[in-house]
Amino acid sequence: MDFKAEYGSIVENDRSVQEVLLKGREFREKYIDPAAAGIDARMLLDPHYSPDDIMKKGCDYGFFSFPIPQFIGGGGRTILHSAVLLEELCSGCAGIGNIFGAHYLGLSGIVLSMDINKYDRFLREVVKGEKRGVPVIFSAAVTEPMAGTDVEDAELLPKARLMTSARKVKDGYVLNGRKVFISNGSIAHYNVVTFPLERDRPLETWTGFMVPAGAKGFSASRVELKMGQRAAHAAELVFEDCFVPAENRIGLEGKGMRMTEIVLGASRAPVAAIATGIARGAYERALDFSENKRSGGRRLVDKQWVQMKLADMYAKLRMARYSYLEAARFFDDSITSSLMGNKTIMNPVMKAFGILSNTGMGMKVTSSDGFKRMTTAYVERKIDTALAGRSLGLSSLSKFSCADTAIDVCMGALEIMGNEGAEERNMAEKYLRDAKLTQIYEGTNQLNRYAVYKHLIQRSWDRGQE
Ligand SMILES: Cc1cc2nc3c(=O)[nH]c(=O)nc-3n(C[C@H](O)[C@H](O)[C@H](O)COP(=O)(O)OP(=O)(O)OC[C@H]3O[C@@H](n4cnc5c(N)ncnc54)[C@H](O)[C@@H]3O)c2cc1C
Repeated sequence: MDFKAEYGSIVENDRSVQEVLLKGREFREKYIDPAAAGIDARMLLDPHYSPDDIMKKGCDYGFFSFPIPQFIGGGGRTILHSAVLLEELCSGCAGIGNIFGAHYLGLSGIVLSMDINKYDRFLREVVKGEKRGVPVIFSAAVTEPMAGTDVEDAELLPKARLMTSARKVKDGYVLNGRKVFISNGSIAHYNVVTFPLERDRPLETWTGFMVPAGAKGFSASRVELKMGQRAAHAAELVFEDCFVPAENRIGLEGKGMRMTEIVLGASRAPVAAIATGIARGAYERALDFSENKRSGGRRLVDKQWVQMKLADMYAKLRMARYSYLEAARFFDDSITSSLMGNKTIMNPVMKAFGILSNTGMGMKVTSSDGFKRMTTAYVERKIDTALAGRSLGLSSLSKFSCADTAIDVCMGALEIMGNEGAEERNMAEKYLRDAKLTQIYEGTNQLNRYAVYKHLIQRSWDRGQE
């Protein structure tokens, strides 16, 4: 692979990114490309089908423990690594790719919380499962039937029409309500969810919990029949007096939205990469088509309008890639490294507790509120609001621009293919259906535009800070 030609200077000298790209490409060529069209068609008839055999193969490649810190036994991969991997997988099929994408979203809710107790109890399971060839899958659930956009933004949350609640009881919490359109919700072993403790004070009481698939009062049986990315289930999660023990609360009470915004700063660049992968898949198919198709005795690709269209698509694709690479690198350099990089005080602390929390005593310490207060204070000191905002702004910029690019490029592929673009076998219509969803999830593109204005454009005196 010519890394420089394809990815430019950001990965040219980075062996670890190159390694990820090669693994991703091998996996896509071996398992995704041959199955993508068939799975997409099958799921229209059977939306509960899940490509478990392909997912199992992901264990051999370390794709489930990929972003889990190495001291817990994971791959220790960064947001940049996740993003380039997702572009590669989604250039074959965004449905299959997004199973990994949604899993990483769930994992990042734990990794970035620095709640070491959850590292030990849940992330270690992912690592162990992977070694046995059994995927242990995560989901992340914030969206509710009447509140999608509003639960992804601190300013909008107080006005959200929430239908969930968490009630504090002895030794834990009781969850009630529904979350909808949750990627992996029906196949996940662990769901990272956010609930308000008081519905009329959602921002102050928004709290994260870990809900295992088998929890009493929890079910996830309805799967949506949706237009694209069909291989990745979007499920409804139902909580009916679902008891969650106190030790399954992630971080401190009331810190859920702050954590959601940090996670979105990490996760929107990988979603932008998913969109870029879709654009790339559509572009590559249009190029192949135009090289093989003859019209009036000439190859389609020899026509100047096709060459110009391809150049346009290729340029958009390259620009999209740079924008997600920049956002991902910003997150890794400014947030991940200052939180848990080798030179941070937290690095040896986390390592020590990672080992200690295996013991009863360690578990007691790490599940205590005192320990959580210490790690939360550390996260808040390291990621101040300005840094979190900048990261969210850059990732949102990449998310909406790559999602819009994916639609443009898919439309270009359909134009080049003419009526054959509408045929399933050429995949262009699948890429277009897959692309549309990237404009909706991880916050709609409208919300992402607003985040860019708020965090990158709006002057500080306008925000009342000066
Ligand atoms: C395939 C798929 C997978 C998904 N996976 C997950 C998942 O894993 N976890 C999860 O929690 N959620 C998931 N979602 C849900 C997704 O995040 C929401 O659909 C999204 O946030 C939009 O919320 P909504 O559908 O309620 O739309 P609404 O919030 O009702 O918005 C409807 C329209 O109004 C616009 N709008 C709303 N408020 C504003 C505003 N203040 N300013 C300007 N425009 C506004 C929106 O942009 C949108 O165009 C998924 C969705 C899809 C389609």
